[in-house]
Amino acid sequence: MTDTELTVADGLVVSLDYTLRFDEGGEVVDTSAGQEPLEFLQGQGQIIPGLEQALYGMAVGDEKDVTVVPADGYGDFNPEAFQVVPHDAFPPDMSLTPGMGLHMRDNSGQVFEVYVADVRPDGVLLDFNHPLAGKTLYFNVKIAGLRSATDEELTHGHAHSPGDEQ
Ligand code: ZN
Repeated sequence: MTDTELTVADGLVVSLDYTLRFDEGGEVVDTSAGQEPLEFLQGQGQIIPGLEQALYGMAVGDEKDVTVVPADGYGDFNPEAFQVVPHDAFPPDMSLTPGMGLHMRDNSGQVFEVYVADVRPDGVLLDFNHPLAGKTLYFNVKIAGLRSATDEELTHGHAHSPGDEQ
């Protein structure tokens, strides 16, 4: 369901093929190649602002390189954003290893991800920084598809995959 007359604008669901590097011409650290393109509702902050802003006006098949500085990406790395949490805060059968991501819920019910930085005798050191915080991101992106969002998607503020009811 792709309309070739469309260009990226608020209220459209974008299917995006992307490749991410930390250096121009460097090693690929993330890519949609071999998977479904990333799908999101443009204008809702579903993706980082530096990438979302760069997509406006692109048509299906258009491709470009986008450099995103930390302020427009995942923010600066905050050396204070670490916290030791007692072992008994986690289920006893849960095996925690450095680098693993955990889903937590803040006071407003919003789910966010934190990372295990270290497992110590006195507790688990959690890193609240996003793993991409502080990094300049070099994307190559291509618009794989564009469609109008459904009323439900517009109400929810995010794209739905076919068949799922979020
Ligand atoms: Zn939804």
